[in-house]
Amino acid sequence: MAEAMYDAASPIERALASASQAAEHRVVMRRKHFDTIAVHGIYGMQEALANQGSIIEPAYLSPAQHFADSDEMEAALAYQIPGWVYSRIANPTVHYLEETLALLEGYGFEGETSASATSSGNAAVWLATSPFLRCLDTQGANPPNFVASAQCYGGTFMLFSQRYAVEQGIEVRWVRNPLDLAEWASKIDARTRFVYGESPSNPGLAMFDIAAVARLAHDVEAPLIVDTTVATPALLRPLCHGADIVVHSLSKCIGASGFAIGGAIISRHDIVSRVLPGDLRGDYARVCKLQTARDHGPSLSPLSALMILNDLRTLRQRVDQFSRSALAVAQFLAGHPGVEYVAYPGLPGTPMHEIARASLWLADGDQEGRPANRYGYLMGFTTKGGAAAARAVLDALQLIWRATDLGRIKSVATIPAISTHQQQGEAGRTLASIPANLIRLSIGGEDPRDIIEDLDAALRGVASSRGIS
Ligand SMILES: *Cc1c(COP(=O)(O)O)cnc(C)c1O
Repeated sequence: MAEAMYDAASPIERALASASQAAEHRVVMRRKHFDTIAVHGIYGMQEALANQGSIIEPAYLSPAQHFADSDEMEAALAYQIPGWVYSRIANPTVHYLEETLALLEGYGFEGETSASATSSGNAAVWLATSPFLRCLDTQGANPPNFVASAQCYGGTFMLFSQRYAVEQGIEVRWVRNPLDLAEWASKIDARTRFVYGESPSNPGLAMFDIAAVARLAHDVEAPLIVDTTVATPALLRPLCHGADIVVHSLSKCIGASGFAIGGAIISRHDIVSRVLPGDLRGDYARVCKLQTARDHGPSLSPLSALMILNDLRTLRQRVDQFSRSALAVAQFLAGHPGVEYVAYPGLPGTPMHEIARASLWLADGDQEGRPANRYGYLMGFTTKGGAAAARAVLDALQLIWRATDLGRIKSVATIPAISTHQQQGEAGRTLASIPANLIRLSIGGEDPRDIIEDLDAALRGVASSRGIS
C-alpha cells in the first residue's frame, strides 16, 4: 500500500512527503536529552532505510543532485521543495551536522533554531555579521557603527578592524571591559547595526552578561551575536539568554580530534534587526545559507562535516573531562612561584568567576544529574620574568604541543602576542588586554598529572636558569 502510494506520487510530492517526515522526526529528537541528540542528531531509522540501512550518517561527496524530471529541478532551484541541488548550496552530510548543531544550541530554548555550516570559524564570524552591513552610507549624516568586545579572537579582531572598519568605512566601537554594562550602554546607539561578544573569550577568558547586553542591543533594535566557541553548547547556550545568533569555530573543541577546519552560525527565528529584510529576520541562518553563503561560497566540505559530526557525538563527556583536568591544572598554576596570574573562569577571585558560576553549567548536570558548574578547557597564565620567561617556558614543554590551536584532544599552548594575536599589533593587543608574557593553555584528554608534571618541569627549569625562586 505504502509502496503503491510512493509510486503514484510525483517527484515533487515525494520530496515534500520526505521533508514532512524529516520534520516530524526532528520534533521527536528535540525532546531527547543532550547526549542523545549529540549522538543521533536528526539521522533516524527511516532515513537509514533509504541509505542502504547505514546506521552512521553517509558521506555524500557528489557535487550535484540528479533530478527525476524538469519539474523537480525547477522546484528545487526555486527552493520550493527541499533538495541539495549543488554541494556549495547544500549537502546531505553537511545538513546532518547543521541540524545537530541547531538542536544542541537550541537545547533548553523554547523557540525554533536553524544552522548554517561554513568552511571555517572565521567564515562563520563573517556570515553572522556581514549581512547587517548592507547599504552602508558611511558619508551621510548618520554613519552606521557596530559594537564589539575588544577581547575577542585575533581573526575576528582583524575582520572587524581591517576588513569592516578600514576597507568598508564602518565604525567599530570596541568595548574594553565586557563585564562593564555601562560601557556597552555608552557605545550602543540608534545607528548600531549589531552587537558582538565572545564569552568566554580567546585568549583572555573574558565573559559578559549575555542577557543584559541582549536587552541593550534590543532596545535599539539591533541583534546580539555571541561567539561561544570556547564554551561550546555543552556549557553555554546564548540563545537561552536572549542572544539572536551564535557563532562557532567547529575546528576547536567541537571537532577535538583535529581532522577538519569548519564553522557554523546558529540563529533563533525572528531575530531583532532594523536593517534586514523580513525573510532574513525570520530565519537568519537558513536564508543566509541559501542566499549569502550560496553567492559568496564559504561552504563546508562534506568529509569535514562528517569528521566534525563524529566528534560532536561525545562533546559533553569531553568538555566534562577536559574541564575537570583544566581546573586541577589552573589550581596548580595559581600556586606556582613562577606564575604571576592565572585567568581561568573556575578560579575564585578572577574577574569572570562570578558570571562563570552563574552561566557555565554542564548540560544535564553531573553523573547523578545534579547541576554542575564546569569551566572549560582553556586558560591563560602570565609568567614572572616577562616575555622572555614566557618564551622559555613554552620552549621547555615536552608533552604540551606548541601550536596556535585549542580545544584539541591533545593539550596545546601558545603565546598569543607572537601568534594568534600578532597581526593586531601592540596597540591592538593593549586594547584587547593581551600582555606579551601571556601563555594560552588548552587542556586535552591526557591524565592531568602528566600535564602538571610537564608544566612544573618547564617553569622550574626557567626559574632556576633565570635566578627566580
Ligand atoms: C579559532 C576561533 C575562531 C576562528 O575559527 P577558525 O575555524 O580557525 O576559522 C573564531 N572564534 C574563536 C573564539 C576561535 O577560537
